[in-house]
Amino acid sequence: MTIEETDTLIVGAGQAGIAMSEHLCKAGVPHIVLEKDRIAERWRTGRWDSMVANGPAWHDRFPGLKFSDTDADAFPAKERVADYFVDYAKMIDAPIRTGVEVSRVARNTNRAGFRIETSNGVIEARNVVAATGAFQCPVIPPVVPSDADVMQIHSFDYRNPDQMPGGAVLVVGAGSSGVQIADELMRAGRRVYLSVGPHERPPRAYRGRDFVWWLGVLGLWDVAAMAPGTEHVTIAVSGAYGGKTIDFRDLANEGMTLLGMTRRFDSGVLTFAPDLAGNIANGDASYLSMLQAADAYVSRNGMDLVQEPDAHKIGPDPDCMTNPVRELNLAEAGISSIIWATGFSQDFGWLQVGAFDKSGKPDHQRGVSSEPGIYFLGLPWQSRRGSTFIWGVWHDARHIADHISTQRKYLQYPGPADP
Ligand SMILES: Cc1cc2nc3c(=O)[nH]c(=O)nc-3n(C[C@H](O)[C@H](O)[C@H](O)COP(=O)(O)OP(=O)(O)OC[C@H]3O[C@@H](n4cnc5c(N)ncnc54)[C@H](O)[C@@H]3O)c2cc1C
Repeated sequence: MTIEETDTLIVGAGQAGIAMSEHLCKAGVPHIVLEKDRIAERWRTGRWDSMVANGPAWHDRFPGLKFSDTDADAFPAKERVADYFVDYAKMIDAPIRTGVEVSRVARNTNRAGFRIETSNGVIEARNVVAATGAFQCPVIPPVVPSDADVMQIHSFDYRNPDQMPGGAVLVVGAGSSGVQIADELMRAGRRVYLSVGPHERPPRAYRGRDFVWWLGVLGLWDVAAMAPGTEHVTIAVSGAYGGKTIDFRDLANEGMTLLGMTRRFDSGVLTFAPDLAGNIANGDASYLSMLQAADAYVSRNGMDLVQEPDAHKIGPDPDCMTNPVRELNLAEAGISSIIWATGFSQDFGWLQVGAFDKSGKPDHQRGVSSEPGIYFLGLPWQSRRGSTFIWGVWHDARHIADHISTQRKYLQYPGPADP
């Protein structure tokens, strides 16, 4: 039986796999993209119903195609983003095969390349790019036992308020997902508790420019690594309802009860850390520092952007901050469900090669792994802050395509001509 061969096999046809395919097409590198579901599946079925992109249409896209029917400053709905990637794949004629799952990749013995086992047979390739996403496996911390008398889901499985049982809802995690879901539930008339950890909450827009623009001109998308000690600081930003700055005080004033970090569960009672006021204060400080950096940029460059003095005003602390709830009896509070918006981990169990460090994390430099021929794409902070975002992954893919092309040139060198 003959085994199909290609130069580079890309696993996953989300935005990362499509960007990778575009750059390999441009470099003339033969390749195949395998996707176990549909193109950009996560944007269709891995997000809640009302979700819109966190960045405006002019920014959250690849350079080669605009969102044709979306206002440049609007936030496209998740289905529209998925359709965008389907259109993009068609435009570049990406060799994507959907419905094919990669179950195992292992290095060939005594010859170059890798053997890739899939749900549709075996393929051999000289290179493999793992473009399976940073947000693969929903993580729920082991705080509340699964047999406790409360429904528990991860934000990955949240769809809309109607899916939740009657009663109050506790949302744990106040990053972009948690805060948007909590807001949606409160707007739907639910009593909502929100457990708030360390976060940044940039202004949605300031002085007439969206925060994605400010991150760009201030060089913050390009920051190479998280500042030490900020590894667990999430970012709370939203394009919902036309795009509004996340202000936890506003949410509290509208009826949401803010809580510190969720710590323990015992006999139906949840305990929260005494860190709510500190977390909110640090979020405020990050918000204000961005305004200051933006003001300094405007002055330095002599720009004429509208003044926004009111943006610098921080409202008074709501009661739930000054008298924080430290313990909550779920039954007494009427809490019938918990949504854990607590992030994701990655599973590379199918990639059985030496491309991982001792802790099992990808061992790589800008996506080029320690196992020659194995590449990663779409990892958090792969090369910079922007790496997991739509526009950022496109640039990381170009770097990997360059690396693959350079290696091909070495291998194509025939050796010195005979004298
Ligand atoms: C809730 C949420 C909102 C986000 N909003 C934004 C936003 O507004 N703007 C922005 O720029 N970024 C956003 N992101 C970040 C990022 O853009 C998305 O997570 C995006 O989906 C990542 O794309 P990806 O291609 O790296 O991974 P994915 O979209 O996860 O694609 C990976 C693909 O690999 C496939 N796959 C996995 N394993 C295998 C296998 N073994 N064989 C074959 N196929 C496999 C999967 O089916 C999947 O389709 C958001 C992330 C989350 C979680």
